[in-house]
Amino acid sequence: MTVPDVLVIGAGPAGLAAARAARRRGASVTLLDSSDELGGQYWRHLPPQRPSEREAVLHHGWSAFTALREWLERSAGVTIIRQAYVWAIETREGRPGAVFVVVGEVDGEDRPQLVFEPGALILATGAYDRTLPFPGWDLPGVFTAGAAQALAKGERVAIGRRVVVAGAGPFLLPVAASLAATGSTVLGVYEANRTASLIAGWLPRPWQLLRAARKGGELAGYVRGHLRHRIPYRVGKAVIRADGTDRVETVTIASVDAAWSPLAGTEQTIAVDAVCVGHGFTPRLELAIAAGCALSDDDFVWVDERQQTSIPLVFAAGEVTGIGGVDLALAEGEIAGHLAAGGSIQDAALAPALAHRRTYRSFASRIENAHGVAGGWSEWLTPDTVVCRCEEVTYGVLCDAASATGGASLRSLKLSSRAGLGICQGRVCGRTIEDLIAKRAPGLAGGPGHSDAPVSSAADRVRTDRRPIAVPIRLGELAAEPTPLSSPSLSDRLRERHP
Ligand SMILES: Cc1cc2nc3c(=O)[nH]c(=O)nc-3n(C[C@H](O)[C@H](O)[C@H](O)COP(=O)(O)OP(=O)(O)OC[C@H]3O[C@@H](n4cnc5c(N)ncnc54)[C@H](O)[C@@H]3O)c2cc1C
Repeated sequence: MTVPDVLVIGAGPAGLAAARAARRRGASVTLLDSSDELGGQYWRHLPPQRPSEREAVLHHGWSAFTALREWLERSAGVTIIRQAYVWAIETREGRPGAVFVVVGEVDGEDRPQLVFEPGALILATGAYDRTLPFPGWDLPGVFTAGAAQALAKGERVAIGRRVVVAGAGPFLLPVAASLAATGSTVLGVYEANRTASLIAGWLPRPWQLLRAARKGGELAGYVRGHLRHRIPYRVGKAVIRADGTDRVETVTIASVDAAWSPLAGTEQTIAVDAVCVGHGFTPRLELAIAAGCALSDDDFVWVDERQQTSIPLVFAAGEVTGIGGVDLALAEGEIAGHLAAGGSIQDAALAPALAHRRTYRSFASRIENAHGVAGGWSEWLTPDTVVCRCEEVTYGVLCDAASATGGASLRSLKLSSRAGLGICQGRVCGRTIEDLIAKRAPGLAGGPGHSDAPVSSAADRVRTDRRPIAVPIRLGELAAEPTPLSSPSLSDRLRERHP
């Protein structure tokens, strides 16, 4: 059987593992990532102007990462292209078609345009971090949890001196640890879910957790760090507003019920100079949707046990298929790479990855059960809370637009309010707007004169992730002839960038 050449999009943990597995199986592999460096969101790098011998600080599994990176960089048969922005994908007759890429700095001139027609394609595009809006979340000094972590890991910069960390999910723990390590005083970590839901999510079949012992060790490290830095961990509490003149000066924290509805009379105001809020992650779906891949009920890329999507020879791995952390991403990547290169799921070499996937999928479902987002958060919005930051669309404007248009259509809501049409193209607010429509928040779809039928963002089959052009490119680049992959000038340019 001939081994197909494999194109991997995304060089985070999933994409790196996929590229290695595909190469080990004999495929010729091309690995693309828009970043300057490999490693994705998990393994970040200090700027080249400020190198450090201790780059591994704040990271887990750094030596495994550097070994993987070196293996790929040294392998004949693996081409790595950094600063490679995949902006469109076609599928042909239910198989991977052309993949369009522009290479170079975002603001760079004369960026080569490449077109790949791979035998098999692996999507490992990861996720964005998600922050639910609240009054004042657009003030300077309010950070997403992912941004705070990226600044700590990638710049060694603390976001403030007195910081509150809030939201939902275990990711708040490494973020608080990184903040403390970079010099912030973390005044508390506030998890919106209550004890009952944490117990219901984490405690069933505790012996299964033993298999994820590495995670247990990581968790124990955070607990030790929290104790050492005296960081309180409070549950059933949420940041419901931030106030300040030119930047955040105080946050209001309230107890919330199991549905995350704030409980009146429990508000507490804390003086801060920064706050960092995260409510989990949302997958980067634009390329998968462009390729025609089906989505699962919970809006991730649907994959079968081979990590193959609904399109033959298009595979997906990592957080684009479900939020499960680095270990699950590595296992899924390995399975996807092996099978994309023509391997079989029965191959003995794949057994450890399959076992890891089982373990960490069960870990991921615990995370979702214990720390999932509940619907009551919309009750802490006020009519003047900004929902779409790029276009400065408030919750009140969104409600009015929904009332005027009938509320069920995402397309009409976007066009009438401009929510999701700004520079981020809904990457920050899209899921929020979809949720607000879907849950029939008061004034959105359930107001007088509106049908009582369930309303969902799928009413007009439009999603904020449907972006035919996945990343910004210039009109000139769109019109340019592609640079042949065999062109010596292309090899020279790529070598210049990464000798
Ligand atoms: C901001 C942020 C910070 C995080 N920090 C941590 C952390 O410190 N600890 C932790 O446990 N988890 C963290 N996570 C969760 C983390 O993403 C996962 O655990 C892990 O990195 C998932 O691996 P992945 O390979 O699926 O995706 P990622 O690591 O996200 O890798 C996806 C890669 O795809 C590339 N990509 C996407 N679209 C394109 C395109 N169109 N063209 C070219 N390249 C593209 C991206 O540049 C990225 O490098 C973070 C997540 C985010 C969003």
